[in-house]
Order: sequence, then structure tokens, then C-alpha cells
Amino acid sequence: MPPADPTSINREEATDIAGLAEGVRRGDKTMLGRAITRIESIRSDHRDEARILLARLLPYTGKSLRIGISGVPGVGKSTFIDRFGSLLTADGHRVAVLAVDPSSRVSGGSILGDKTRMEKLSSDPAAFIRPSPSAGSLGGVTRRTRETILLAEAAGYDVILVETVGVGQSETQVADMVDVFMVLMLAGAGDELQGIKKGILEIADLIAVNKADGENRPSAERARAEYEQALHYLHSADSIGSPPVLTCSAMNGDGLSDIRDAIRRLQQNMNESGDFEKRRRRQNLRWMWADIESELLAALKRDPSVAKRLPRLEKDVLDGCLHPSDAARSVLDMFGVKTTSE
Ligand code: GDP
Repeated sequence: MPPADPTSINREEATDIAGLAEGVRRGDKTMLGRAITRIESIRSDHRDEARILLARLLPYTGKSLRIGISGVPGVGKSTFIDRFGSLLTADGHRVAVLAVDPSSRVSGGSILGDKTRMEKLSSDPAAFIRPSPSAGSLGGVTRRTRETILLAEAAGYDVILVETVGVGQSETQVADMVDVFMVLMLAGAGDELQGIKKGILEIADLIAVNKADGENRPSAERARAEYEQALHYLHSADSIGSPPVLTCSAMNGDGLSDIRDAIRRLQQNMNESGDFEKRRRRQNLRWMWADIESELLAALKRDPSVAKRLPRLEKDVLDGCLHPSDAARSVLDMFGVKTTSE
């Protein structure tokens, strides 16, 4: 990231940012929290500060293992993260938990990242849990999460757990910013694969069937075998083979150390094959494009002439008296973008 122009902010703010950067480096959780709030802000002066902050901290980033954890609400993500995170801190890791929750944007409420959902981990000195930001503070869900990962790494967290709920694009977005993307599943009645999006199986690096306890155990084991078979079929042409499928109980801790070991093996294999580095580089390229897209869109929306005429155009499209592509063309035209006319 190119350093932002330091002259664009005043001396007091610069000291503030230097202090923040230092606090983050020290691993001070309050400072890390403040730094994250800064990067979540959509205020343009805060964006400038955030850029400087990230530029300062960039040399200390990139050294963690980034793990994405997905699954439908109720599958047991927070229970899993609470236990699994504690297992990792007991191993000597420092664990940061972040959440990608696009629904908070719509509903104004957050269904992820709530500290009370991870009781054990939230009182663990070696863990940092960042609740999802409230609506109105989002400057692009993926951008802020990617940057938050970097901040947490600079603060010394060597495992970053990024939690996401299977809503909209969030799964692919998270898969695109982590080294290992794991999906928690439930054993359902009947056909295990029914209703399961094939897409998520394609991007999963590891699948765990949760709630494999009590009378659920046999059905969880059956589901595991079925997923394994489906994945084997799906990845039959891949050189790396199909992703591991395991069972676990986030509630009583069964299977969690097997998951940790499977993740370690994945990491080791990726390191040896060079895929780890390749994957991160590819992600960086997509990050660049995502930034370009979101910045362009933000600039377009900020444009005074666009802002002035947009409500009317939107209304006309809604009312059906203007074709969407004609409306899009006039917006782009106002912004000085030449569209190709067929
Ligand atoms: P999330 O919405 O995916 O974060 O799911 P939660 O972690 O909040 O869990 C949803 C419910 O499932 C809670 O009542 C948990 O106690 C329960 N639960 C989570 N993991 C397990 C498990 O491994 N076994 C059983 N039996 N229940 C679980």
C-alpha cells in the first residue's frame, strides 16, 4: 500500500497515529480496537489516517495463519470458535477473532462477533475478539476485514479466525482472504447434500460436521462419509486431492484437536508446494481490484452532479419508466465515463 501523503493530516493527528501504531505493535488491545475503529470509519480524513497507520504497520503483517470459519446460523460457529480458539491459545498461539456479517448492514443489528457468545475466549489474555461493527460504520465489508487482519497480525496475533455467516457473498469474500477456509455443517435428516450449496463445497479447504455428540453421533458420521464422497467426486480432477472431512462436537470438544492437526497438515502441504504464497498473491491481486472497484464506486457516489440526479434516476427505474441500462449510462456519463454503445 503506498503511504498516504503525510502532509494531508496535521501534526496532532500524526502523533495520534504514531501512538496508535506503537500501541498496536505492543499488542495493546485497547489500541488495536481503536485502530480498527479508525479503519472502519467511512470519514475520508479517517481513511487517510488509516492508510498511514497501515503503511506503518505493514512490515509486521502477513505472518499469521488466517482461517475462515463459515456455516449457517445455529451450526455452532461461536461455540466452536470459543473452544477451538482456547485450544490454540493453550498451544501458545495468540488468536484474533473477526467477523464478517453483511446482515449488520441491513438490519442494523449484528448477529456475529458478540463477545458474550464466546465466554471463555473473551476472557483469555491471548485472544482478541472484535465484534462486527454496527451499521453505518462500514466502509466496505471486505476491505475493512482485510485491513483488520493486517492490524491484528501487527499486534502479534499469529492465528486469525474470520467468522462468517452464509449470507450473500460473504463466504466467497472470506474464502478469498484466508489461507484455510473451513465450513461447519450439520447432519440433517435424509439426503445430506440436499439444500447444500455446491459452491461452498467447492471453496472449502476443510469440512467439519459439528454436533457429533449424544444421539447425533451416528448421523454425523454418516453425513461425514457422504460429504467425503461428494468432495472426492467434486475434486477428482485436482492434483491436491479432496479436502479433509471430519466430525466434531464444539460443545464437548471432541474432534477439535483433529481439526487443528488437519489444518496444520494443510498449512504444511501448502507451504511445501508453494501454494500458500501463491494463494496470498492471487488474493492480493483480487484485493487490488476490489479496492479499485469500491473506490471508484465511492467516488462516483460522492460526485455532486451524480448525487443530485441519482434519486430521480433511481425512482424512474423503480417506477419502470426508465430502462436500467439507460439509467446506468447516464450516471456514468455524468461521471465522465464513456460507455460503449452497441
Ligand atoms: P452459531 O449461530 O453458528 O454461532 O451457533 P452457536 O455457537 O450459537 O450454537 C447454536 C446452538 O447450538 C447453541 O445452543 C449451542 O449450544 C449449540 N451447539 C453448538 N455446538 C454444539 C455441539 O457440538 N453439540 C451440540 N449438541 N450442540 C451444540
